[in-house]
Amino acid sequence: MSTPVRVRFAPSPTGHLHIGGARTAIYNWALARHLGGTFVLRIDDTDPERSTDENVLAILRGLRWLGLDWDEGPEADGAFGPYFQTQRADTYLAALKTMKAAGRAYPCFCTTEQLEVKRDAMRAKGGYAGYDRTCRAIDPATAAARVAAGEPHVWRLSVPEGRTEVAFDDAIRGHMSFPADALDDFVLVRTDGTPTYNYATVVDDALMEISHVVRGDDHLSNTPRQILVFEALGHEVPIFAHLPMILGADGKRLSKRHGATSVEAYRDEGYLPEAVLNYLALLGWSLDGETTMITRDMLRESFSLDRVSSNPAILDTDKLDWMNGVYIRELGVDGFVERMTPLLVEAGLTTVEEAAAKRAWMLKLAPLVSERIKRLDEIVPMVRFLFVEDLEIDPTAFAKVLKAGNAAEVLTAARGLLAAIPAFETTPIEEALRALPEQLGVKAKVVFQAVRVAVTGTTVSPPLFESLELLGREKSLARLDAAAAGVDEAAPRP
Ligand code: GLU
Repeated sequence: MSTPVRVRFAPSPTGHLHIGGARTAIYNWALARHLGGTFVLRIDDTDPERSTDENVLAILRGLRWLGLDWDEGPEADGAFGPYFQTQRADTYLAALKTMKAAGRAYPCFCTTEQLEVKRDAMRAKGGYAGYDRTCRAIDPATAAARVAAGEPHVWRLSVPEGRTEVAFDDAIRGHMSFPADALDDFVLVRTDGTPTYNYATVVDDALMEISHVVRGDDHLSNTPRQILVFEALGHEVPIFAHLPMILGADGKRLSKRHGATSVEAYRDEGYLPEAVLNYLALLGWSLDGETTMITRDMLRESFSLDRVSSNPAILDTDKLDWMNGVYIRELGVDGFVERMTPLLVEAGLTTVEEAAAKRAWMLKLAPLVSERIKRLDEIVPMVRFLFVEDLEIDPTAFAKVLKAGNAAEVLTAARGLLAAIPAFETTPIEEALRALPEQLGVKAKVVFQAVRVAVTGTTVSPPLFESLELLGREKSLARLDAAAAGVDEAAPRP
């Protein structure tokens, strides 16, 4: 029987879920789902100063927002818990005992000052080659007595004598080999008894029976050390897969400098989870090199590590925006109203009850907006004019469009025609306004822009005739009047 597939996502709650972490989580989730395995969520909260409960919650929220579910971990339980490293101190101590018994860990009593002196001396001789193993030479009985007497010490891994390299086959990068002399007898447990990352991670991966470690390649240099710990624990080494870096458009490693990097910041900027999932899934993996629209179900069906690229991926916000626009349109009219309503309520433009009462109107508005946006945060500014009593006209639009030429005359004439049409609906509105340019001897654009600025307050709005219908006759006429009067007032007096 082959080993069951168990993968894990092990974020450190020192911040929110960021784009890179989210992609790692997606790939782990997809691998587990595709192979019918188990997806474990483990919280690496060993940095007490920077780990917070709020960050843990934000990470869980971010994963759920993306539609990723985990089989074991916080709020899911499982047979291999606890899933917070801070709750596993006993486990790390027990594993240390195993390693001590096997002669693979030894106490080191060198003080920080002594280590610094050694380091400086080695550097002066042409390079630091790691800890010089002074304490490895202490005989075990003496070392045990010193530990028992309470002498401060760390625990180090005893790298096997004669070991020249640590090699493994990375599922993405192929064969990797590291010279063992670059891997000194590193610290497993600190003086205060806390485990180091390379130690705790391996104990957990071993005891949680992780079959595949899929993580960012910023951890690549840790892997040979971790392999030595697996060996020291007498545990089989899992398959490693190191994901290529995500770079910003400038080719530099993605960081805060590149704008929003947390998943929830993307949510707040109006990206749909389906789009973010799709975009991140393709940031380093491809289905067939062509398909750009990937759903969660497709990932579940098709994800494999052999289609993960080993080249760095570049975060292209324009492509994400484009993709988000596609998903926005895929919501359909009802789906879009569902996403739009809470945003309008939050902006104080309407209430849930009012929105429900004028659902037919909302359904008419939906496609006018959804066809024109790439992000949901564009909705409120675009439709605000339909909800407010007092319209504020954008000063630039006013100066450019309404102060120019004979805007007052155009607005007054438009008002006259619109007051006279029997039904205030898109088609008669359009017919009326299309007659105006010829009548006034001006270009069509002059008329439409003047009316647009007068009723919507800006030069960019949903389509004009439909906007007028949605705004209604009374408000439309009042705004044309107000704008015409405003233009008159602003006009220089003779
Ligand atoms: N806690 C580590 C991180 O956030 C996880 C590393 C790993 O997956 O081994 O980078």
